[in-house]
Parts: sequence; C-alpha cells; structure tokens
Amino acid sequence: MSPTFPHRTASPSVAGSPRVGILALQGDVREHERVLRSLGAEVVSIRRPDELLAVDGLVLPGGESTVIDKLARGFGVAEPLSRAIAAGLPVYGTCAGLILLADRLEDGIEGQRTFGGLDVTVRRNAFGGQVESFEASVAVPTFGGPPVDAAFIRAPLVVSTGPGVEVLAELDDGGIVAVRQGNAIGTAFHPEVSGERRFHELFLSLVRAA
Ligand code: GLN
Repeated sequence: MSPTFPHRTASPSVAGSPRVGILALQGDVREHERVLRSLGAEVVSIRRPDELLAVDGLVLPGGESTVIDKLARGFGVAEPLSRAIAAGLPVYGTCAGLILLADRLEDGIEGQRTFGGLDVTVRRNAFGGQVESFEASVAVPTFGGPPVDAAFIRAPLVVSTGPGVEVLAELDDGGIVAVRQGNAIGTAFHPEVSGERRFHELFLSLVRAA
C-alpha cells in the first residue's frame, strides 16, 4: 500500500481564500465554479493527480458517474483522489458526485467503481423510469432557514447509512437525499443549479476548519 496521498500544498492558498478543486472530467463544473467564486473561494480544475496537491477541498460535480469513473481511472486520478478523501480532504459531491463518494453502489453498470468516502449505499438512477427529473423543496434542519430548492436530475438515493453518517435531508417519503460524514458531504440533488448556496457554504466551512 502506498503512503497516504498528501493534500496539503507547500505554497498554501492566500489567507482567507480557500483554494478548492473541482474534478473537471465531465459534468456541471461551471455551475459549481460560479457558486464557489461567489462565496470567495479560489477555484481550480482537477484532472491530474498532481493538481490535487494544491487544493484545500474538492467538489465532485453532477454529470454521469460511469463516465467520470472511467475518465478518472484513465487519467490516473481515481486512486490518489480516493486516498486524499480517506485522509480527510474536505469533499462535496452532488448527484453523480454523491454516487462517486458512496462506499457501496446499487444499480451501477458492470465494473463501475466509486472513490468512496461516505459509509452509505447509494442507488443510481433511483427515480428513473417514472419521473426522471423533478424539483422539490427540501427541508434541511441543520441550516435552520427556508427549505432548499432542489433539482433532482436522474438522481440517486441514499438507501442505507452507516453509524457515522449524519442525514442532512430527507424527502417527504423518508428517502435520504443529503448526508455528511466528517469532511464529506453528498447531495442527491443539485443546489448549484437553483441558486442555493448553503451546501457550498457548509463545505467551505469544513475546508477552512481542515
Ligand atoms: N444518473 C447519473 C449517474 O449515474 C447522475 C445524474 C446527475 O448527476 N445529475 O451518474
């Protein structure tokens, strides 16, 4: 086993402005970039292992988890990324990003892998078939304020959680759609497309504290 992948940079980000990477192989990278910049973060794209060295936190965008998985392995970034997450690099995954953070996956394609980091089982395309995409107003008790406008686009669902996992949001039927475990946050929906910034704020608070 190789040593833990270091995620601290030798030349740290400018004081007060955390440097966040977005895995930019496929998916809604720009939407995340816009929200993170509006919150004062410095944002860089991550495609190669060495680029991971220079960030204080990582966002895994929505898109297509099967494609991101294949490209990440092809670019040699999948394993360093898994190690960085396991070592505590703050990470936030939306939709396909949540799938990639799941330790266990249901309804993946043949050979599909995840980076892991959240002790959850996630079912891919859990709403597919009947209603592929919808918007819902989702209460997130930890935020206290108004509910989150959440866009579900061929969304996954968290079907089971391990003991260390905090459920941040559920649908009316009890389906788990947002979770946190330590420095890892995952949402089945896309707050970045509906102008919702509180999940990114929570993520940046983890980045600043790390
Ligand atoms: N269904 C997609 C997947 O399997 C996720 C969709 C999304 O990220 N909006 O990766």
